[in-house]
Amino acid sequence: MAERQASGKRGRASKAESAVPKAAPGAAGAKTGFDKKTIALVYDFDGTLSPRPMQEYAFIPKLGIDASEFWRESNRIAQEQQADTLITYMHLLYKKAKEKGIRIDRDDLVAQGRAVELFPGVLEWFDAIGDYVKLRSESHGVTLRHYLISSGLTEIIEGTPIYDRFENVFASEYWFEAYDLPYPKRVITDTGKTQYLFRINKGVEDLGQNINQHMPEVERPVPFANMIYFGDGDTDVPSMAVMKKNGGHSIAVYPSGKSKHKCVDLFKAGRIDFFAPADYRRGSDLFKRTCLLLDRILADIRVQEETWRVGKSLK
Ligand SMILES: [Mg+2]
Repeated sequence: MAERQASGKRGRASKAESAVPKAAPGAAGAKTGFDKKTIALVYDFDGTLSPRPMQEYAFIPKLGIDASEFWRESNRIAQEQQADTLITYMHLLYKKAKEKGIRIDRDDLVAQGRAVELFPGVLEWFDAIGDYVKLRSESHGVTLRHYLISSGLTEIIEGTPIYDRFENVFASEYWFEAYDLPYPKRVITDTGKTQYLFRINKGVEDLGQNINQHMPEVERPVPFANMIYFGDGDTDVPSMAVMKKNGGHSIAVYPSGKSKHKCVDLFKAGRIDFFAPADYRRGSDLFKRTCLLLDRILADIRVQEETWRVGKSLK
């Protein structure tokens, strides 16, 4: 298998570069129109778009072990060894596969993605929300993008039917050259997720490019105010905190009919704008509340565009 380029999603880095105005110093003065019209919906995967951790649909059953037992063992090792929990599970998965003589390569992981279950309405969500934004955006040129930031495995996500809906997918990934034990290439921790929010915000989606260089707000192509983050719990707290602090929006979801206490805690702590059952079908609470936030974002874009026009007319 040929090595993939150092971007979150194959071939997407160049697409992002061409679609987003170059954020080079001085570019702000040269622009011919108001250019903060990209809206980004950013999703966690496990528990947010899919009911269970993605490894539980095929990888763990293939090893013939119980999922809860696997996570218990992984967390116990991480605690004992004071190791990173994600690196530990990525290592343990393959250690167990090797012990059982089961070979799982990149293609196998992609195939496993087909077994991943999605919450109701997820398949139709992207078109439905796209239609809504098109209908409501009286200002022309509004672009809607979907992004995924997940601690799960890129390869499994690639096998799901929604992979192509994302502008970019930032997820953990393996190196596969030496089968002895595939080695983590990229590990996306809870706090590490926030780096990718800034990459979307700054339009620096090529992971080979440094994200830490200072970029004035005015040059950032996707303001946090144009972003909505979707998550399901504790592991999303750092991302929700970054959204909140920077004027962005967050929605938490919980499985329909199951406990919503985590969402209630997040809501009471002021970390999220809304929470709703993970039902993505048109007309659901999640759909309606997302549209409400989109209405506000679209109105803000129109106000800012008009302000920009008035300012320009004075020059
Ligand atoms: Mg999650």
